[in-house]
Amino acid sequence: PMSRAYNFAAGPAALPEPVLRQVQAELLEWDGVRASVAEISHRSPEFMRVATEAEADLRRLLSIPGDYAVLFLSGGATTQQALVALNFAAPGQVADYVVSGHWGKVAIKQAKDYVRANVAASGEAGGFRDIPQAAEWKLSKDAAYVHMTANETIHGVEFRPEWGALPETGDVPLVADFSSSIASEPLDVSRYGVVYAGAQKNLGPVGVTVVIVRRDLLERAGQPRADIFNYASHANAGSMLNTPPSFNWYLAGLVFKWMLAEGGVEEFARRSAEKARLLYAAIDGSDGFYRNEVAPGVRSRMNVPFFLRDDALTAAFLAGAKDAGLLALKGHRVLGGIRASLYNAMPVDGVRALADFMQDFRKRHG
Ligand code: PMP
Repeated sequence: PMSRAYNFAAGPAALPEPVLRQVQAELLEWDGVRASVAEISHRSPEFMRVATEAEADLRRLLSIPGDYAVLFLSGGATTQQALVALNFAAPGQVADYVVSGHWGKVAIKQAKDYVRANVAASGEAGGFRDIPQAAEWKLSKDAAYVHMTANETIHGVEFRPEWGALPETGDVPLVADFSSSIASEPLDVSRYGVVYAGAQKNLGPVGVTVVIVRRDLLERAGQPRADIFNYASHANAGSMLNTPPSFNWYLAGLVFKWMLAEGGVEEFARRSAEKARLLYAAIDGSDGFYRNEVAPGVRSRMNVPFFLRDDALTAAFLAGAKDAGLLALKGHRVLGGIRASLYNAMPVDGVRALADFMQDFRKRHG
């Protein structure tokens, strides 16, 4: 019989099976209300409890300090890239962008009508295979913020301790897109003014986006904008300024509980390191049959793009992988090749199965 495969999708991505089973069990009648959680008012006491618990659980999971607000919004990470500029930069103020891959460029695209976007550093000339060292960053003196992407989902480039420490930016807050690596290891929230992440990789289903923002930043005037684009209004309304993505919020809340029960971010850091070790070893130990081109010090633990020496074999690799129960390994169209995403819901055994398949495929085609 057919069964669930190992799903290496980049997002929307695999969800933890126990969470899906719980959702399945309570989809028709949830928590004694004789209706689905998707069918009840977001202001009902039952849903309010879901919302409150989800926030408390996320705060515990990520050790979010009390002087940070946590918002659950719709619009995805892309919308936040525009809202960050509207909320935290004065009209025409400069904002610094550190571009370590595709999503850093998108962040500029979304903000450039509202700020003077200064590319403080970019890895683009080198094909985004490395991140410029902090000493080379050309930061502006009066920047509204410095924007960075903690993990580049397409290029497979992540800020790692081996790369070095983030620069001290003084009063200029770091704004970080953590969409594809949040909750995969402990996070020092206090290093950032804003951390945002779409849920559809490590946190849950697409449709809800988490924004963690230091409360003093909510007092910035920003730029003329509709109330619905105002983070402070969302914070004051408990993320219920309008109808929130309640079902997604509920489902993300179940993922938070699952992550806590599994041992929290320390445990996912351990698993992530093990998964990355297994896959990069399979690539690096293949005598060039497979290759990853990212500088060792910034290789992503979450998204591993790689190429076959003979690109003509890529289609056969993907077809064979699918037959072996290894899904969604096709590389992003920007890079081609293969990409394996190793988010929290991907078990270590799934990566073992992938590494075994890779070795077997090489034996057959090498
Ligand atoms: N930033 C990063 C790092 C991403 O991986 C993605 C989505 N893949 C986005 C931003 C855009 O997210 P969304 O589609 O939720 O707007």
